[in-house]
Amino acid sequence: MVADYDARLGLYIGGEWLTGDGRETQDVLNPATGAGQAALPLATPADLDAALEAAQRGFVLWRATAPEARAAILIKTAALLRERADHLARIATLEQGKIQAEAKGEVAFAASLLEFHAGEAQRIYGRVLPRPQGTRSLVLQQPVGPVAAFCAWNFPIMNVVRKIAPALAAGCSIIIKPSEETAGSAVEVLRCFQDAGLPGDVAQCVFGVPDMVSRQLLASPITRKLSFTGSVPVGKHLMKLAADTMMKTTMELGGHGPVLVFDDCDLDKTLDILVAHKFRNAGQVCVAPTRFHVQQGIYDRFAAGFAERTKALKVGSGMASGTQMGPMANARRPQAMADLVDDARTAGARLLAGGGRLEESGGGFFFTPTVLADVPLDARAMNEEPFGPIALIRPFETVEDAVEQANRLPFGLAAYCFTENGRRQNMLGDAIEAGMIGINTVKLSAPDSPFGGMKDSGHGSEDGPEGVAAHLVSKTVHMV
Ligand code: NAD
Repeated sequence: MVADYDARLGLYIGGEWLTGDGRETQDVLNPATGAGQAALPLATPADLDAALEAAQRGFVLWRATAPEARAAILIKTAALLRERADHLARIATLEQGKIQAEAKGEVAFAASLLEFHAGEAQRIYGRVLPRPQGTRSLVLQQPVGPVAAFCAWNFPIMNVVRKIAPALAAGCSIIIKPSEETAGSAVEVLRCFQDAGLPGDVAQCVFGVPDMVSRQLLASPITRKLSFTGSVPVGKHLMKLAADTMMKTTMELGGHGPVLVFDDCDLDKTLDILVAHKFRNAGQVCVAPTRFHVQQGIYDRFAAGFAERTKALKVGSGMASGTQMGPMANARRPQAMADLVDDARTAGARLLAGGGRLEESGGGFFFTPTVLADVPLDARAMNEEPFGPIALIRPFETVEDAVEQANRLPFGLAAYCFTENGRRQNMLGDAIEAGMIGINTVKLSAPDSPFGGMKDSGHGSEDGPEGVAAHLVSKTVHMV
């Protein structure tokens, strides 16, 4: 057991923390060492039934709670998150691997999401439709009902807040199943909600065998909305389950972010931004820049500059000061990276940096930051989401080629363009099929802007007014 890992693991149902009682457990591992550090209790079918009943009670209570009272709890939760930032960030690093600076940034962003949603809770307006004098029609916006939310391990604090905040702002109750691998971060976030005064039945947090949990929660008529962050195949599977009860869905799935780099960009600045962003969270980011399509005139300089900066990155434990990239989150990821690199090299790609596991990584899940150039289009990595520290570089000639490449895959989450040409910037913003586009920037996420994708990357948005709207249903009342 690792002394620093002090998450108080449990299931949170009906305002009670549940542990033991013969429940099966799963070890939460430290990705920097591969060692187990705590045992997580897993929900039984009876626990999930109890969570559903609590969510139903919580919905009745919460939808009738005044918007300003809902907002006050979100604000208080944000304050607790900020107060406990060091504790939360330490747990996130110890169970997910990311470096401390990123974990602290994640806590701060999660708090700002709560603050934004506190405002949105008080701005859920309807409409009055013009009718003959003395009569009217009203369009009301009402909370959809109890939400079942499932989210991934890559942002163990923020993903949880991004699910709970809009649900609570809209007046919904929620059952969230965060990733079992990063349970401690989620549990400590739930404790902030609890300590901020959120009534016990309004938010439940469960862990278990993912397929068992999602089948049971989505089959229940109590659940009125599915919100999922994770991979495309799991997302498609969950949508099929959700269809049986015709529930509302928000799907935040994977991507394969194209980056179009034009001859006229500020090359050094572009490289500094892109290398830092590529290897953030060891590349385990749904909006990660992945395929770098670089205009012929600067291709060689771009590839060499990318490789040079990549080789200089310091890889190690996320807890150690000076580390720029930590381990991957679980043992599956380095293996997946090794397979993709082998396949790309066999297909003819040139390895410019990294390409394998870190020497002296002990039992940790480390993979070296990797750069591959001249990657053929049929290499697996050019078609499957790597979700890891691999940069794929290819040349293009014309702007038309670049757009064709950007739109080639079924994904449509994030895309990036680097060019100083204003006319071209506008054209790219229009033509690229992605839910979020960064022009000369990699910053795609802000509390007030919708975050989400198109095509196989999902539908519906989180954050912004759109994130709350996704938890509302319209009702029209005609009055004569
Ligand atoms: P995975 O698809 O097995 O799991 C991803 C997440 O979904 C996990 O948190 C898991 O608990 C959950 N999950 C899996 N099956 C589920 C089910 N039947 N019901 C409910 N939840 C379920 O993949 P992985 O190996 O953990 O991660 C790698 C892949 O996940 C990547 O290829 C990437 O596309 C995707 N991913 C995407 C995001 C994102 O932000 N969009 C985040 C993390 C992972």
